[in-house]
Amino acid sequence: MNPALPTIDDLIADGALFVANHSGGKDSQAMLIRLLRVIPFIQLLVVHASLGDVEWPGALEHAKQQADAACLPFVVARAEKSLLDMVERRFQTRPDVPSWPSISHRQCTSDLKRGPIEREIRRYAKANGFTTVVNCMGLRAAESRDRAKRLPLTHHARNSVAGRTWFDWLPIHDLSTAAVFDVIATAGQQPHPAYALGNDRLSCVFCIMGSRKDIANGAIQNPAMFERYAALEDRTGYTMHASRVPLRELARVSA
Ligand code: SF4
Repeated sequence: MNPALPTIDDLIADGALFVANHSGGKDSQAMLIRLLRVIPFIQLLVVHASLGDVEWPGALEHAKQQADAACLPFVVARAEKSLLDMVERRFQTRPDVPSWPSISHRQCTSDLKRGPIEREIRRYAKANGFTTVVNCMGLRAAESRDRAKRLPLTHHARNSVAGRTWFDWLPIHDLSTAAVFDVIATAGQQPHPAYALGNDRLSCVFCIMGSRKDIANGAIQNPAMFERYAALEDRTGYTMHASRVPLRELARVSA
């Protein structure tokens, strides 16, 4: 059963740990700027899920720089496997089914981001005596219909156990994309340089849900990585992108 939800002020007064999930992207950055305005810094932790060499170069450093500037603890959550290992393994064991994660089975998010981040939060909360966790994510209503349906604050039953209560909070759920960039600029900060190169989003350079522009831009800026992905599509016979359009076509790069 979902218990009555406290307010954010209640959670602050109760001494909850607020964890800023920071991908290095614009939404995480704007979220942390907003969090710093209301959450005491001794109750804040920044966590970055490292995707290894498939994430945008400099994403981890960008997140760390913002945490360091605010004197916040910064933890890197690492998975035991990489996205391309996951695809390779899937192809070896089940060549009859698509090798890449899909929107309905986002194993990449659950195994490479959510799982490792939750593990690090549990460790940090236990080591530092926090019994209430507020896991803050930069998801916004304007991004998709699914995200628009999300409630800004929810009780997370699976991660709540005896001695630890867990909430998920979306502090910038109401912000438009323009407002996100405005929050960053008003704070006197710069977003990750990939945005100036034309990217809409930032995380894996080649995301299963990435826009055509992001895929093309990723291919131009990271040609060797693009070749690894495209070669893996060729070898498995399955396409990476949710549209099922091959990467070489999406990026308009000839083989
Ligand atoms: S950025 Fe895209 S491909 Fe990478 S882990 Fe997230 S959903 Fe999966």
